[in-house]
Amino acid sequence: MAGKILAVIETEDGRVRESSYEVVELARRLAAAGEGTVCAAVLGTDPAAAAGEVVRRGAEVAYAVGDLALASYTADGYAAALKALVKEREIGTVLFSHSPVGWDVAPKLAAAHGMPALMEVIGVDGAVWTRGVFNGKLHMKMQMEGSPVVATVQKGAYPAFEGETTGEVEPFAPGLDAGAIRQKFVEVRSAPKGKIDLAAADIIVSGGRSLGGADKFDIIRDLADALGGQVGASRPVTDSGWLPHEHQVGSSGVTVKPKLYIAAGISGAIQHVVGMKQSGYIIAINRDKEAPIFEVAHVGVVGDLFEVVPALTKAVQEARAKG
Ligand code: FAD
Repeated sequence: MAGKILAVIETEDGRVRESSYEVVELARRLAAAGEGTVCAAVLGTDPAAAAGEVVRRGAEVAYAVGDLALASYTADGYAAALKALVKEREIGTVLFSHSPVGWDVAPKLAAAHGMPALMEVIGVDGAVWTRGVFNGKLHMKMQMEGSPVVATVQKGAYPAFEGETTGEVEPFAPGLDAGAIRQKFVEVRSAPKGKIDLAAADIIVSGGRSLGGADKFDIIRDLADALGGQVGASRPVTDSGWLPHEHQVGSSGVTVKPKLYIAAGISGAIQHVVGMKQSGYIIAINRDKEAPIFEVAHVGVVGDLFEVVPALTKAVQEARAKG
Protein backbone atom coordinates (compact mmCIF):
# COMPACT_ATOMS: atom_id res chain seq x y z
CA MET A 1 0.00 0.00 0.00
CA ALA A 2 1.56 3.25 -1.10
CA GLY A 3 1.48 6.55 0.79
CA LYS A 4 1.78 7.09 4.51
CA ILE A 5 0.53 4.31 6.75
CA LEU A 6 -0.08 5.63 10.26
CA ALA A 7 -0.02 3.47 13.40
CA VAL A 8 -1.79 5.21 16.29
CA ILE A 9 0.27 4.46 19.40
CA GLU A 10 -1.18 4.00 22.89
CA THR A 11 0.85 4.76 25.99
CA GLU A 12 0.52 3.97 29.67
CA ASP A 13 2.47 6.03 32.22
CA GLY A 14 4.46 7.48 29.32
CA ARG A 15 5.57 4.07 27.95
CA VAL A 16 4.37 2.60 24.66
CA ARG A 17 1.90 -0.28 25.10
CA GLU A 18 3.28 -3.53 23.68
CA SER A 19 0.09 -4.04 21.61
CA SER A 20 0.93 -0.86 19.67
CA TYR A 21 3.94 -2.66 18.18
CA GLU A 22 1.53 -5.19 16.65
CA VAL A 23 -0.07 -2.26 14.82
CA VAL A 24 3.40 -1.05 13.78
CA GLU A 25 4.06 -4.55 12.38
CA LEU A 26 0.96 -4.39 10.16
CA ALA A 27 1.89 -0.84 9.08
CA ARG A 28 5.33 -2.14 8.08
CA ARG A 29 3.83 -5.04 6.10
CA LEU A 30 1.42 -2.73 4.24
CA ALA A 31 4.18 -0.23 3.56
CA ALA A 32 6.53 -2.98 2.31
CA ALA A 33 3.86 -4.28 -0.05
CA GLY A 34 3.34 -0.90 -1.67
CA GLU A 35 6.46 1.18 -1.08
CA GLY A 36 4.65 3.23 1.54
CA THR A 37 6.08 5.03 4.57
CA VAL A 38 5.65 3.67 8.10
CA CYS A 39 4.43 6.51 10.32
CA ALA A 40 3.25 6.59 13.92
CA ALA A 41 1.32 9.10 16.02
CA VAL A 42 1.88 9.48 19.76
CA LEU A 43 -0.55 11.85 21.48
CA GLY A 44 -0.14 13.68 24.78
CA THR A 45 1.09 16.90 26.34
CA ASP A 46 4.72 15.95 25.82
CA PRO A 47 4.89 12.77 23.71
CA ALA A 48 8.43 13.23 22.33
CA ALA A 49 10.05 10.52 24.49
CA ALA A 50 7.46 7.88 23.56
CA ALA A 51 7.72 8.94 19.90
CA GLY A 52 11.50 8.40 20.17
CA GLU A 53 10.82 4.89 21.46
CA VAL A 54 8.63 4.15 18.42
CA VAL A 55 11.18 5.27 15.81
CA ARG A 56 13.71 2.98 17.47
CA ARG A 57 11.23 0.14 17.05
CA GLY A 58 9.64 0.23 13.63
CA ALA A 59 8.42 3.68 12.58
CA GLU A 60 10.22 5.73 9.95
CA VAL A 61 8.49 8.90 11.15
CA ALA A 62 6.79 9.36 14.52
CA TYR A 63 4.60 12.42 14.93
CA ALA A 64 4.72 13.70 18.51
CA VAL A 65 1.23 15.19 18.61
CA GLY A 66 1.43 17.54 21.59
CA ASP A 67 -1.33 19.68 23.08
CA LEU A 68 -2.37 20.60 26.62
CA ALA A 69 -5.89 19.37 25.79
CA LEU A 70 -4.40 15.87 25.34
CA ALA A 71 -3.31 15.60 29.00
CA SER A 72 -5.89 12.83 29.42
CA TYR A 73 -7.64 10.66 26.88
CA THR A 74 -10.91 11.97 25.47
CA ALA A 75 -12.54 10.70 22.28
CA ASP A 76 -13.17 14.24 20.96
CA GLY A 77 -9.60 15.37 21.71
CA TYR A 78 -7.95 12.36 20.09
CA ALA A 79 -10.25 12.42 17.06
CA ALA A 80 -9.70 16.17 16.47
CA ALA A 81 -5.91 15.86 16.84
CA LEU A 82 -5.74 12.89 14.46
CA LYS A 83 -8.11 14.57 12.02
CA ALA A 84 -5.72 17.55 11.79
CA LEU A 85 -2.67 15.26 11.44
CA VAL A 86 -4.26 13.13 8.69
CA LYS A 87 -5.22 16.24 6.72
CA GLU A 88 -2.03 18.25 7.13
CA ARG A 89 0.45 15.39 6.70
CA GLU A 90 -1.62 13.72 3.96
CA ILE A 91 -1.85 10.36 5.72
CA GLY A 92 -3.41 7.50 3.76
CA THR A 93 -4.28 4.53 5.93
CA VAL A 94 -4.72 4.83 9.71
CA LEU A 95 -4.37 1.78 11.98
CA PHE A 96 -5.45 1.54 15.63
CA SER A 97 -5.33 -1.31 18.14
CA HIS A 98 -8.73 -2.96 18.53
CA SER A 99 -8.89 -1.47 22.03
CA PRO A 100 -11.33 0.88 23.78
CA VAL A 101 -9.40 3.82 22.23
CA GLY A 102 -9.65 2.26 18.77
CA TRP A 103 -13.36 1.47 19.14
CA ASP A 104 -13.97 5.06 20.22
CA VAL A 105 -11.85 7.07 17.83
CA ALA A 106 -11.52 5.04 14.60
CA PRO A 107 -15.16 5.47 13.48
CA LYS A 108 -15.08 9.22 14.29
CA LEU A 109 -11.92 9.70 12.25
CA ALA A 110 -13.25 7.61 9.36
CA ALA A 111 -16.49 9.61 9.27
CA ALA A 112 -14.59 12.92 9.38
CA HIS A 113 -12.54 12.00 6.32
CA GLY A 114 -15.17 9.95 4.45
CA MET A 115 -12.97 6.85 4.74
CA PRO A 116 -14.24 3.29 5.32
CA ALA A 117 -13.75 1.99 8.89
CA LEU A 118 -12.76 -1.67 9.18
CA MET A 119 -13.07 -2.85 12.77
CA GLU A 120 -11.30 -5.92 14.21
CA VAL A 121 -8.96 -6.63 11.31
CA ILE A 122 -7.17 -9.97 11.57
CA GLY A 123 -5.44 -10.14 8.19
CA VAL A 124 -4.71 -8.24 4.99
CA ASP A 125 -3.86 -9.92 1.70
CA GLY A 126 -3.39 -7.44 -1.12
CA ALA A 127 -6.61 -5.46 -1.35
CA VAL A 128 -8.56 -8.03 0.70
CA TRP A 129 -8.99 -7.23 4.39
CA THR A 130 -10.29 -9.89 6.79
CA ARG A 131 -12.15 -8.85 9.93
CA GLY A 132 -13.86 -10.66 12.75
CA VAL A 133 -17.61 -10.29 13.12
CA PHE A 134 -20.14 -11.65 15.65
CA ASN A 135 -17.57 -11.55 18.48
CA GLY A 136 -14.95 -13.13 16.23
CA LYS A 137 -17.11 -16.20 15.49
CA LEU A 138 -17.15 -15.41 11.74
CA HIS A 139 -14.61 -13.84 9.42
CA MET A 140 -15.65 -11.30 6.82
CA LYS A 141 -13.44 -10.61 3.79
CA MET A 142 -13.69 -7.18 2.25
CA GLN A 143 -12.13 -6.08 -1.04
CA MET A 144 -11.05 -2.46 -0.74
CA GLU A 145 -10.92 -0.66 -4.07
CA GLY A 146 -7.77 1.38 -3.69
CA SER A 147 -9.19 3.74 -1.07
CA PRO A 148 -7.25 4.34 2.13
CA VAL A 149 -8.96 3.01 5.22
CA VAL A 150 -9.18 3.50 8.95
CA ALA A 151 -8.88 0.13 10.70
CA THR A 152 -8.61 -1.38 14.16
CA VAL A 153 -6.24 -4.37 14.42
CA GLN A 154 -7.26 -7.30 16.66
CA LYS A 155 -4.77 -7.96 19.44
CA GLY A 156 -2.64 -11.00 18.66
CA ALA A 157 -3.46 -11.01 14.94
CA TYR A 158 0.10 -9.80 14.21
CA PRO A 159 3.28 -10.29 16.23
CA ALA A 160 4.69 -7.18 17.89
CA PHE A 161 7.51 -5.71 15.77
CA GLU A 162 10.77 -6.56 17.52
CA GLY A 163 13.50 -5.07 15.33
CA GLU A 164 15.69 -2.04 15.96
CA THR A 165 15.29 0.88 13.55
CA THR A 166 16.15 4.53 13.24
CA GLY A 167 13.69 7.19 12.24
CA GLU A 168 12.66 10.76 12.73
CA VAL A 169 10.49 12.32 15.43
CA GLU A 170 8.44 15.20 14.09
CA PRO A 171 6.58 17.47 16.53
CA PHE A 172 3.02 18.25 15.43
CA ALA A 173 0.80 20.84 17.11
CA PRO A 174 -2.85 20.04 16.35
CA GLY A 175 -4.09 23.41 17.71
CA LEU A 176 -7.00 21.91 19.63
CA ASP A 177 -9.90 23.99 20.94
CA ALA A 178 -10.27 22.66 24.50
CA GLY A 179 -13.80 24.14 24.66
CA ALA A 180 -14.94 21.87 21.81
CA ILE A 181 -14.06 18.69 23.76
CA ARG A 182 -17.33 17.39 25.15
CA GLN A 183 -15.96 14.70 27.49
CA LYS A 184 -14.31 15.44 30.80
CA PHE A 185 -11.71 13.07 32.22
CA VAL A 186 -12.46 12.34 35.88
CA GLU A 187 -10.13 9.63 37.24
CA VAL A 188 -8.53 6.24 36.62
CA ARG A 189 -9.75 3.57 39.01
CA SER A 190 -7.63 0.46 39.43
CA ALA A 191 -9.43 -2.83 39.83
CA PRO A 192 -9.13 -4.24 43.35
CA LYS A 193 -6.22 -6.68 43.66
CA GLY A 194 -7.40 -10.25 43.33
CA LYS A 195 -6.43 -13.32 45.33
CA ILE A 196 -4.61 -15.03 42.47
CA ASP A 197 -1.95 -13.89 40.03
CA LEU A 198 -2.44 -15.87 36.82
CA ALA A 199 0.22 -13.84 35.03
CA ALA A 200 2.86 -15.33 37.38
CA ALA A 201 1.53 -18.93 37.35
CA ASP A 202 3.66 -21.76 35.93
CA ILE A 203 0.71 -24.08 35.40
CA ILE A 204 -2.85 -23.09 34.51
CA VAL A 205 -5.86 -25.32 33.95
CA SER A 206 -8.67 -23.36 32.29
CA GLY A 207 -12.29 -24.28 31.78
CA GLY A 208 -14.80 -22.84 29.35
CA ARG A 209 -18.51 -22.32 28.88
CA SER A 210 -18.98 -26.03 28.27
CA LEU A 211 -18.50 -26.71 32.01
CA GLY A 212 -22.06 -25.43 32.38
CA GLY A 213 -21.96 -23.91 35.88
CA ALA A 214 -19.91 -22.83 38.89
CA ASP A 215 -20.43 -26.17 40.65
CA LYS A 216 -18.88 -28.06 37.69
CA PHE A 217 -15.54 -26.29 38.12
CA ASP A 218 -14.48 -28.75 40.82
CA ILE A 219 -13.03 -31.07 38.17
CA ILE A 220 -10.89 -28.20 36.81
CA ARG A 221 -9.84 -27.22 40.35
CA ASP A 222 -8.92 -30.84 41.17
CA LEU A 223 -6.62 -31.09 38.14
CA ALA A 224 -5.05 -27.69 38.91
CA ASP A 225 -4.46 -28.78 42.53
CA ALA A 226 -2.95 -32.11 41.47
CA LEU A 227 -0.52 -30.26 39.17
CA GLY A 228 0.17 -27.46 41.66
CA GLY A 229 -1.35 -24.90 39.27
CA GLN A 230 -4.01 -22.19 39.13
CA VAL A 231 -7.52 -22.17 37.66
CA GLY A 232 -8.17 -20.06 34.57
CA ALA A 233 -11.31 -19.51 32.51
CA SER A 234 -12.74 -18.15 29.32
CA ARG A 235 -14.88 -15.03 29.36
CA PRO A 236 -18.36 -16.65 29.37
CA VAL A 237 -17.34 -18.26 32.69
CA THR A 238 -16.55 -14.95 34.37
CA ASP A 239 -19.41 -13.11 32.62
CA SER A 240 -21.78 -15.73 34.07
CA GLY A 241 -20.30 -15.21 37.54
CA TRP A 242 -19.08 -18.82 37.85
CA LEU A 243 -15.61 -17.45 38.72
CA PRO A 244 -14.35 -13.92 39.51
CA HIS A 245 -12.94 -11.85 36.65
CA GLU A 246 -9.35 -12.33 37.90
CA HIS A 247 -9.54 -15.90 36.47
CA GLN A 248 -10.28 -14.72 32.93
CA VAL A 249 -7.59 -15.31 30.33
CA GLY A 250 -7.67 -13.27 27.13
CA SER A 251 -7.79 -9.88 25.50
CA SER A 252 -10.13 -8.44 28.13
CA GLY A 253 -8.65 -10.56 30.91
CA VAL A 254 -5.12 -11.56 31.86
CA THR A 255 -2.30 -12.39 29.43
CA VAL A 256 -0.54 -15.50 30.70
CA LYS A 257 2.67 -17.32 29.83
CA PRO A 258 2.81 -20.44 32.00
CA LYS A 259 5.02 -23.45 31.28
CA LEU A 260 1.86 -25.56 30.94
CA TYR A 261 -1.63 -24.39 29.88
CA ILE A 262 -4.52 -26.85 29.75
CA ALA A 263 -7.66 -25.61 27.99
CA ALA A 264 -10.68 -27.78 28.73
CA GLY A 265 -13.84 -27.17 26.71
CA ILE A 266 -12.61 -23.84 25.33
CA SER A 267 -13.27 -23.24 21.62
CA GLY A 268 -10.20 -21.05 20.94
CA ALA A 269 -11.74 -17.71 19.98
CA ILE A 270 -9.03 -15.21 19.09
CA GLN A 271 -9.83 -13.12 22.19
CA HIS A 272 -8.95 -16.12 24.37
CA VAL A 273 -6.00 -17.31 22.31
CA VAL A 274 -4.17 -13.94 22.37
CA GLY A 275 -4.04 -14.25 26.14
CA MET A 276 -2.47 -17.74 26.30
CA LYS A 277 -0.76 -18.60 23.02
CA GLN A 278 2.68 -17.78 24.40
CA SER A 279 2.38 -20.57 26.96
CA GLY A 280 5.29 -23.03 26.88
CA TYR A 281 3.19 -26.15 26.33
CA ILE A 282 -0.52 -26.17 25.51
CA ILE A 283 -2.87 -29.13 25.93
CA ALA A 284 -6.40 -28.70 24.57
CA ILE A 285 -9.34 -30.94 25.39
CA ASN A 286 -12.39 -30.49 23.19
CA ARG A 287 -14.97 -32.83 21.79
CA ASP A 288 -15.04 -30.94 18.47
CA LYS A 289 -11.99 -31.96 16.43
CA GLU A 290 -12.37 -28.79 14.32
CA ALA A 291 -12.18 -26.45 17.36
CA PRO A 292 -9.71 -23.59 16.63
CA ILE A 293 -7.95 -24.15 19.98
CA PHE A 294 -6.25 -27.17 18.38
CA GLU A 295 -4.40 -24.78 16.02
CA VAL A 296 -2.33 -23.45 18.94
CA ALA A 297 -2.18 -26.65 21.00
CA HIS A 298 0.95 -28.82 21.22
CA VAL A 299 -1.23 -31.78 22.20
CA GLY A 300 -4.92 -32.06 21.40
CA VAL A 301 -7.31 -34.50 23.02
CA VAL A 302 -10.60 -34.97 21.17
CA GLY A 303 -13.00 -36.10 23.85
CA ASP A 304 -15.47 -35.24 26.55
CA LEU A 305 -13.82 -33.12 29.23
CA PHE A 306 -16.03 -34.66 31.90
CA GLU A 307 -14.23 -37.96 31.20
CA VAL A 308 -10.77 -36.72 30.16
CA VAL A 309 -10.13 -34.20 32.97
CA PRO A 310 -10.89 -36.55 35.92
CA ALA A 311 -8.83 -39.29 34.21
CA LEU A 312 -5.89 -36.88 33.88
CA THR A 313 -6.24 -35.84 37.53
CA LYS A 314 -6.19 -39.48 38.61
CA ALA A 315 -3.11 -40.18 36.47
CA VAL A 316 -1.27 -37.15 37.92
CA GLN A 317 -2.20 -38.12 41.49
CA GLU A 318 -1.03 -41.70 40.92
CA ALA A 319 2.23 -40.54 39.37
CA ARG A 320 2.82 -38.16 42.30
CA ALA A 321 2.06 -40.93 44.81
CA LYS A 322 4.73 -43.08 43.16
CA GLY A 323 7.12 -40.11 43.52
P1 FAD B 1 -17.54 -21.53 23.41
O1 FAD B 1 -17.04 -20.72 22.29
O2 FAD B 1 -19.02 -21.70 23.54
O3 FAD B 1 -16.84 -22.96 23.26
C1 FAD B 1 -17.13 -24.06 24.04
C2 FAD B 1 -16.28 -25.21 23.50
O4 FAD B 1 -16.45 -26.32 24.34
C3 FAD B 1 -16.63 -25.65 22.10
O5 FAD B 1 -15.45 -25.69 21.31
C4 FAD B 1 -17.20 -27.06 22.28
O6 FAD B 1 -16.85 -27.93 21.21
C5 FAD B 1 -16.53 -27.49 23.54
N1 FAD B 1 -17.27 -28.48 24.33
C6 FAD B 1 -18.59 -28.48 24.64
N2 FAD B 1 -18.87 -29.49 25.47
C7 FAD B 1 -17.70 -30.16 25.68
C8 FAD B 1 -17.35 -31.30 26.44
N3 FAD B 1 -18.26 -31.96 27.20
N4 FAD B 1 -16.08 -31.73 26.42
C9 FAD B 1 -15.13 -31.07 25.68
N5 FAD B 1 -15.42 -29.98 24.94
C10 FAD B 1 -16.69 -29.52 24.96
N6 FAD B 1 -13.05 -14.61 25.63
C11 FAD B 1 -12.10 -15.02 26.49
O7 FAD B 1 -11.97 -16.21 26.80
N7 FAD B 1 -11.26 -14.10 27.10
C12 FAD B 1 -11.34 -12.77 26.83
O8 FAD B 1 -10.58 -11.99 27.42
C13 FAD B 1 -12.34 -12.33 25.90
N8 FAD B 1 -12.45 -11.01 25.60
C14 FAD B 1 -13.36 -10.64 24.67
C15 FAD B 1 -13.42 -9.29 24.29
C16 FAD B 1 -14.33 -8.87 23.34
C17 FAD B 1 -14.35 -7.42 22.95
C18 FAD B 1 -15.20 -9.82 22.75
C19 FAD B 1 -16.17 -9.39 21.71
C20 FAD B 1 -15.17 -11.14 23.12
C21 FAD B 1 -14.25 -11.57 24.10
N9 FAD B 1 -14.18 -12.90 24.49
C22 FAD B 1 -13.20 -13.30 25.34
C23 FAD B 1 -15.20 -13.90 24.07
C24 FAD B 1 -14.73 -14.78 22.93
O9 FAD B 1 -15.04 -14.18 21.70
C25 FAD B 1 -15.47 -16.15 23.00
O10 FAD B 1 -16.86 -15.92 22.95
C26 FAD B 1 -15.13 -16.96 24.24
O11 FAD B 1 -13.72 -17.08 24.39
C27 FAD B 1 -15.74 -18.36 24.10
O12 FAD B 1 -15.58 -19.04 25.31
P2 FAD B 1 -15.61 -20.64 25.35
O13 FAD B 1 -14.54 -21.16 24.46
O14 FAD B 1 -15.60 -21.02 26.79
O15 FAD B 1 -17.06 -20.98 24.81
